[in-house]
Amino acid sequence: MEKKMPYDSNNIFARMLRKEIPYHKVFESPHVLAFYDINPKAPCHVLVIPKGPYVSWADFSEKATSEEISEFVKSVDKITQDLGLQEKGYRLISNHGAHASQEVPHFHLHILGGEPLGPLLSNKK
Ligand code: 5GP
Repeated sequence: MEKKMPYDSNNIFARMLRKEIPYHKVFESPHVLAFYDINPKAPCHVLVIPKGPYVSWADFSEKATSEEISEFVKSVDKITQDLGLQEKGYRLISNHGAHASQEVPHFHLHILGGEPLGPLLSNKK
């Protein structure tokens, strides 16, 4: 994925933000939305997205305002608290581009928890 890849406003998360597709909301604030992943990889699997049109971590960090970035980071902390994940722990993952198999070209952070998550990568030592 090119850092300067244009944003595709027909991606699935953009359509969710426009309420064209249903989702199970976990959290919402002026710049942030969080919802349960449709294909959970852990007992608790939540996706956190900025509402702005950012393709990936690189795009978000380059173009988002300080307010958007700050709200996003603090929202992730609040969501993990609200979901009761802080005591036993959780994992944050953001896939950027082809090597990470990024499927949806709207920046998102996976929050995974609810059980021991095992090694960081299943196919690596
Ligand atoms: P990526 O591989 O891009 O980091 O992850 C995209 C995630 O979005 C996947 O875990 C996938 O299950 C999730 N996803 C894809 N389509 C939908 C959808 O329509 N609704 C929800 N809630 N999650 C989706």
